Amino acid sequence: MGWPVLRQFLGGDPLGRSSSVVSRKTTEITPRTTTADRAVQSVCPYCAVGCGQKVFVSDEKVVQIEGDPESPISRGRLCPKGSASEQLVNSDTRQTTVLYRAPRAKDWQEMDLETATEMVVDRFLESRRNKWQDVDEHGRHLGRTMGIASLGGATLDNEENYLIKKLFTAAGAIQIENQARI
Ligand code: SF4
Repeated sequence: MGWPVLRQFLGGDPLGRSSSVVSRKTTEITPRTTTADRAVQSVCPYCAVGCGQKVFVSDEKVVQIEGDPESPISRGRLCPKGSASEQLVNSDTRQTTVLYRAPRAKDWQEMDLETATEMVVDRFLESRRNKWQDVDEHGRHLGRTMGIASLGGATLDNEENYLIKKLFTAAGAIQIENQARI
């Protein structure tokens, strides 16, 4: 039954959406999702829709990412970008170390995470201190800084946004925005 139409009608698949359109190669391969050790529920990191994902893991390595049918947001669906997020995890070109480009330097240099974090903290505190406003021109209490601001990305989740809002408000910042609102 090499001819596709014959396969459809004699193979009990008149609409051509089942066994008659399965290639030999497809029958010979096994989906990574069936051989994975486990599947972990997660959220797509790419955009504010927040589609649910099932991350399939074998030997402690991510081998496939699919839509999660249990997600009330996406009900098992992912857009092409979300469907390709396995490539984000396993790409050879993925940047896994901190890079720093000094003022007026042309090149980036690798930096350990602790040093980079200390630099961010120092600058955050200095900027906050330098632009601190205790009172306005009428002597009314302000207790704020104009030296720091936060612009969140849409890939941040609820918990991260909650903590960022808490941190910046506690530090006296008043410009706290998110890319999803722009
Ligand atoms: S799958 Fe697509 S639509 Fe869903 S969160 Fe990811 S990027 Fe956004």
